[in-house]
Amino acid sequence: MMNHVLHLKSLLSGRTFRPDEIDYVDPEFGPDGIVDVVYDYDAIKRAISRESLRDNRDASIWRYKPLLPVRPDAPVPPLQIGWTPLYPAPRLGALLGLRQVWVKDDGRNPTASFKDRASAIAVVKAQERGAEIITTASTGNAAAALSGICASVGQANVIFVPEKAPPAKVAQLLAYGATVMLVRGTYDDAFELCLQASDAYGWYNRNTGFNPYMSEGKKTATLEICEQLGWQAPDRIFVSVGDGCIIGGLHKGLKDLMALGWIERMPKLMGVQAAGSNYLAEAWERGEDVLTKPPIDAQTVADSISAGLPRDRLKAMAAVKETGGAYVTVSDDEILTAIPALARGCGVFAEPAGATAYAGLVKAVEQGLVSADERIVVLNTGSGLKDVAGAMKGVERAGTQAYRVDADLEDLKRVMATI
Ligand SMILES: *Cc1c(COP(=O)(O)O)cnc(C)c1O
Repeated sequence: MMNHVLHLKSLLSGRTFRPDEIDYVDPEFGPDGIVDVVYDYDAIKRAISRESLRDNRDASIWRYKPLLPVRPDAPVPPLQIGWTPLYPAPRLGALLGLRQVWVKDDGRNPTASFKDRASAIAVVKAQERGAEIITTASTGNAAAALSGICASVGQANVIFVPEKAPPAKVAQLLAYGATVMLVRGTYDDAFELCLQASDAYGWYNRNTGFNPYMSEGKKTATLEICEQLGWQAPDRIFVSVGDGCIIGGLHKGLKDLMALGWIERMPKLMGVQAAGSNYLAEAWERGEDVLTKPPIDAQTVADSISAGLPRDRLKAMAAVKETGGAYVTVSDDEILTAIPALARGCGVFAEPAGATAYAGLVKAVEQGLVSADERIVVLNTGSGLKDVAGAMKGVERAGTQAYRVDADLEDLKRVMATI
């Protein structure tokens, strides 16, 4: 049985390819030749509807299988990926003078980040091809997602991360049994080495902004958001941006929903970047061409969104431009402060890159970009437990600390009296 993919379309030349013709990119442009997966929406409409979803008990991304680039009968990994909660956050809203704010917590995925949505597709595609080894370069979370999902099906994988990746992320990879290469260099260096290695060894490559199926996994978040809101699309979605694959994927999901006629209007996508890794925000503000703009030196406490040359920059720019959204930049200080603010305001504990989306909402409100009656979704992309050192910096900035007491009620009373 076939899936509903019509063809793969090159973003740069518009040329189309059969899915069995190329594995990743338009060969004319090498690694920059990113392609988009084009579907037969009429066939999709015959396979799935808003009504059929209402009765579907599959609480995972696979509830949208007819909208994904996998065969209907393809075996899927057993870990429960996606269908993460969308929490109303009235206290956060009130703090910011907004009437309706929701937080979608993708830290609740099996490996604790949004990346599970993409890696799940990578594993299914690799197994379709009978690949012996899957590889990826990653700042940490894409790798953990890949190796975790590989572990769930017994698939070998080789991971390239910058040697400065947070220890919790490296530990997670090793626990899942991945072969881990700590690359002396940046994420961008790890990415290049991974491309060379997959070429040299014939490994299946999951790299972001290279493998066209990753956006397809990532789009499931906007499918869920709209379904969870009863198909009443929000006005704006805030998401942190590094390589731009998530925001591009969110856009793809929304375009699918518009094509199917399941939502009536396009939400505005708000990309939030760290000031020290602001390639896309800068290109957007200055109207620069991301095909010719040179890489920047990326440095931010939010390691998951540190990208000197965002690999999915074409889709990331289109996501903001075509939805009438904006790019917003926040400092590392604002990111760290957002960790406890988000946690206290709604009970969602985010890693720095996850809290960045909330910091971006705060900034957008300050800049008058958001009006009080808009329906706003903030996407937390990763769990706070991914980067405990980052969380500690955040709570220190918020001026909170633990108290030390003797194991003795009198001493406790002494301390309580000071609070
Ligand atoms: C990967 C990641 C992002 C950014 O996604 P891109 O596709 O690189 O823009 C944001 N937050 C977390 C936690 C991530 O792991």
